[in-house]
Amino acid sequence: MSASQMPRDYYEVLGVDREASEAEIKKAFRRLARELHPDVNSHDPKAEEKFKQAAEAYEVLSDTERRATYDRYGHEGLRSGGWAPNFEGFGSVADIFEAFFGSGGGGPFGDIFGGTTGARSYGRVQGGDVAVSVEIDLVDAARGASVPVAYESIALCEHCHGNGAEPGTPIETCPRCGGAGQLRAVTRTPFGQMMRSTVCDRCEGEGRVPKQPCRVCRGRGRKVERVKISVDVPAGIADGQRIRIAGRGHAGERGGPTGDLYVQIRVREDHRFVRDGDDLITAVDVAAPLAALGTTVEVPTVDGAVELEVPAGTQPHEMLIVRGKGMPGLRRRRTGDLRVVVNVVIPRHLSRDQRELIEQLAETMTDHNLRTDEGVFGKLRRALGG
Ligand SMILES: [Zn+2]
Ligand SMILES: [Zn+2]
Repeated sequence: MSASQMPRDYYEVLGVDREASEAEIKKAFRRLARELHPDVNSHDPKAEEKFKQAAEAYEVLSDTERRATYDRYGHEGLRSGGWAPNFEGFGSVADIFEAFFGSGGGGPFGDIFGGTTGARSYGRVQGGDVAVSVEIDLVDAARGASVPVAYESIALCEHCHGNGAEPGTPIETCPRCGGAGQLRAVTRTPFGQMMRSTVCDRCEGEGRVPKQPCRVCRGRGRKVERVKISVDVPAGIADGQRIRIAGRGHAGERGGPTGDLYVQIRVREDHRFVRDGDDLITAVDVAAPLAALGTTVEVPTVDGAVELEVPAGTQPHEMLIVRGKGMPGLRRRRTGDLRVVVNVVIPRHLSRDQRELIEQLAETMTDHNLRTDEGVFGKLRRALGG
């Protein structure tokens, strides 16, 4: 705030007349705050300055003593009395907002943007979301499954329909805050006094309390409930993905909508497979002589075992593909493949007869048996599973 600038009349800033009541001043400031809020006014560089002026005016006019000083002696009177606007001590307009309105409800501005009028302008508040985690087998993830999920959520008390009063008994103005829903505390700062509002601890900001609290929920209006539902897990889901189920979270407040349920799916490891996107990878052992001759092996799939032909001359770590035996695509129609890595096993612990046979075989080996078309790089790549 520049010192050379002539300070504007506080009543003019708030747009109220000099006889305005405390409530009118408060209302005018709230209206201005709404209009000048930085989130709404990012296009107007003057909004922040205007808001500071409004906040300063409000800080003076909402305080009976300060207002009287201002009415009699003007800006000079306040300054010589030691008062100065203290907003420079705050980092941002958001901080000033929070200092004035507290951070109750849905964030620092939940209060002013709540929409309803009244002592504490809380509006309908959406219930919180609930997050749970369930574990399923890979086979269930491949086929899709209906999975039971149990969790605790906050539900409206049925006995009092959420208002916290024993049915047939009245709800009264909160004796602690006089219905304001807030308690005010004056804090001293290097720049002067700052008024802070905190939510009333008796009525939790409602301004009203039941005369006779509901005996079921003890006046809270809500109760914790154990919920069991079954969740349809779509085929092809991957570990860590979340399913959102609208309206199955915590009950809202003051008629607000219910929150959502988020189910995080953990897919248990299946020792037979490694998942790579929609593809599954498995490995089969084939004895070296059979790899040379060609053979048929059994490989596991998520739908049970299938026969796989291993062609004659299959090399170690060669990859064979079983089309369409991977995971179903969650969004795409295409189902992934099963990739089978052939682990050619060189025989160990040879008997004397076996040793003789292999010795005979070794003597007959020619370049033609061993030559492959791939170079060293290709061989290494295959060995490393590329
Ligand atoms: Zn109740
Ligand atoms: Zn209260």
